[in-house]
Amino acid sequence: RQQDRRAYDAAGSEARVEARVADGREGRFDNAPDSDPDLPGNRVWGREISERMVASTLGSELVASSRITDAKTLDETIARGVAAADAWQALGADERARILYRAGEKLEERRAELLEVMGSECGKTLDQGDPEVSEAIDFANYYAMLGQQLDLVDGAQYRAQKLIAVIPPWNFPVAIPAGGTLAALAAGSSVIIKPATNSARSGAVMIEALWEAGVPKDVLQFVQFGDRELGSKLVADPRVDRLILTGAYETAVAFRELRQDLPILAETSGKNAIIVTPNADLDLAAKDVAQSAFGHAGQKCSAASLVILVGSVATSKRFRGQLLDAVRSLKVGTPENLETQMGTIITAPSGKLLRGLTQLGAGETWAITPEPVASASPLSVDRNGENKLWSPGVREGVKRGSEYHLTEYFGPILGVMTAKTLDEAIDMVNEIDYGLTSGLHSLDRDDLELWLRRIQAGNLYVNRGITGAIVRRQSFGGWKKSAIGAGTKAGGPNYLHGLGSWIDAPVES
Ligand code: GLU
Repeated sequence: RQQDRRAYDAAGSEARVEARVADGREGRFDNAPDSDPDLPGNRVWGREISERMVASTLGSELVASSRITDAKTLDETIARGVAAADAWQALGADERARILYRAGEKLEERRAELLEVMGSECGKTLDQGDPEVSEAIDFANYYAMLGQQLDLVDGAQYRAQKLIAVIPPWNFPVAIPAGGTLAALAAGSSVIIKPATNSARSGAVMIEALWEAGVPKDVLQFVQFGDRELGSKLVADPRVDRLILTGAYETAVAFRELRQDLPILAETSGKNAIIVTPNADLDLAAKDVAQSAFGHAGQKCSAASLVILVGSVATSKRFRGQLLDAVRSLKVGTPENLETQMGTIITAPSGKLLRGLTQLGAGETWAITPEPVASASPLSVDRNGENKLWSPGVREGVKRGSEYHLTEYFGPILGVMTAKTLDEAIDMVNEIDYGLTSGLHSLDRDDLELWLRRIQAGNLYVNRGITGAIVRRQSFGGWKKSAIGAGTKAGGPNYLHGLGSWIDAPVES
């Protein structure tokens, strides 16, 4: 560690995050140690952010500001990552695994801090943030173990890549950046991560935990930028061997076009449905639909945006009542209240999401109208002081082929559709461009077999909610426009395979 630190001192870096939490405690976190000179504009608190910074905010209060990496620093960062890879590989899979297991312990030690930061930056409620930290720890343990099994598979030798770029989203500000990073580290590669600007500090705490565990600072580096330009520069650089991306489908396509020879493992968008048949346990279905639609205010790629009611369920007053009760009973609020079940939207809704929350298509009605919720909490407003706390919305009468049927909104809205048969319901799901998660509620084996044979999605859940994939048990990734790459799934047995290359093992003559 001492040696890493000295090497790092010599190289220096501009990427850093400064943070202040609600109670006034201050923290500073950067790629480089404290000897790094104070850079102008670097200690900006409040709402004045220089144009060279990006910020995440707690209401109108600044939580973290990240100095934007410039092109020269990015170049140096890439060079340092490449140079560090050989030593990281030479360490061997067992020693790397030991460090990654320790990373899991460090993440556990910092669970409370992670929960606080995720709550203030991204509106993560306790019931969502806590399992998220566990997921990050699961990734550490699982990928450490997979890394130890990589060397030789059926006579082919695994050869690690030198440098992997990880570009995660803000909605799982710890688990997703941790997952990609830990996978790449376990595979023997250096990592450059660009935490989402809305969750820079959550990413920082996660990275720091990994450094503390013994991952050298030049093996795991972070950069920060607020626009596409430098992101494109990073992705376009031929020294980057792989890209792990979670984000919008359009972003993944733009990166793919930028550099066609770069293997990308991308989990992209979703527009997911749960089908409820007359053979379902309706009590369970109502609860699972409400939780899948409104957990983290619907801001998960995996969230249920549609429920499709088959046959008699479509006209069942009892089921409708239960579903609407389940939605109405969700405690809407901000995350400092530990009982909150549905938190804020990342910023005051605008564009497509605002339309989804306020406009209906032909024949649609609101069974529950989504509305802004007044709150005194600083966590209920975004950087511009605008309200970002909304109640959940349920729209009925969604027509096949309508805008709502086919569009991802990424917010607290659930649309109800009806189908005469299970086959028809499956058609309605399959004509959506995306295929990430999908759910069936039915206790009937024939229903299940038909659905399993026909449904087009990466993660299939039966008689359970459709969010919260568990590492190793439900590896996560989509089909169609929900993925780019070969469809390798995060938290699954072959995830590391796609991060390296395979060569023939030398044959003894
Ligand atoms: N892995 C998460 C889940 O299973 C979703 C991740 C995402 O939204 O991208 O709910």
